[in-house]
Amino acid sequence: MTKTILITGASRGIGRATALLCGAEGWAVAVNYARDGAAAAETVARVKEAGGDAFAMQGDVRDEAAVAALFERTVETFGGLDGVVNNAGIVAPKSTVAEMSVERMRGVFETNVLGAYIVAREAARRMTRGSIVNVSSAAARLGSAGEYVDYAGSKGAMDTMTTGLSNELAPRGIRVNAVRPGLIATDIHASGGQPDRADRLGGATPIGRAGTAEEVAQAIIWLLSDKASYVTGATVDVSGGR
Ligand code: NAP
Repeated sequence: MTKTILITGASRGIGRATALLCGAEGWAVAVNYARDGAAAAETVARVKEAGGDAFAMQGDVRDEAAVAALFERTVETFGGLDGVVNNAGIVAPKSTVAEMSVERMRGVFETNVLGAYIVAREAARRMTRGSIVNVSSAAARLGSAGEYVDYAGSKGAMDTMTTGLSNELAPRGIRVNAVRPGLIATDIHASGGQPDRADRLGGATPIGRAGTAEEVAQAIIWLLSDKASYVTGATVDVSGGR
């Protein structure tokens, strides 16, 4: 069955990989992005090539009105909404807590916590069926000492939201789950000033390498699909045993 899926932060990385797998399933995808319209347009073209439908829409997840507009356009364009992937997220450069500025912490929490909660709220208001997948992080378990404890805490908030929202929405037939990726080779590490981070640290994981965005996307697709019909309130680690 064709599904209609909204993915935040789908211009690259895990969001794009998820969009491409949705396309391969023949699903329709709303490709949200913040800044890189050209990359989002490429995601759209590749979803269509894979056999799905898609459109791109700029919108900062921190902006309540922008997120509402994104949901409105998705429902109008596709005639409904079966899935939301709450994926947009950022890291900041490596730092101890003692050295963190409030400005930096505010930036991380505004995108990863407030933005994710705004997206979840709109999904809860507008969905009448389907599945929400929150893209958390193994950092929520590990704490990320010496790197970004603010980021780790923001993902802990997402895990807690997954539990609470799943309980609220289960009676309405909407499932809410999270994936917790580990060290995944995407641009996010460069944006945090450590472009080689996934490769450098991936070898120390039990599996012995960094993961790929597609490996995370496969877990997300399963949670979006009807194959996961009895799964809600779960957090699925995609972290190579780390
Ligand atoms: P990425 O390659 O840096 O991509 C981030 C995406 O989020 C981009 O599409 C970006 O859009 C979008 N974005 C950033 N801020 C946004 C905002 N305020 N509003 C809307 N979109 C915004 O990151 P990634 O590695 O794929 O990460 C995706 C998710 O997985 C994040 O939540 C991240 O915390 C989580 N995660 C990643 C890893 C990893 O190792 N890669 C591990 C654990 C968890 P533009 O490019 O257009 O700005």
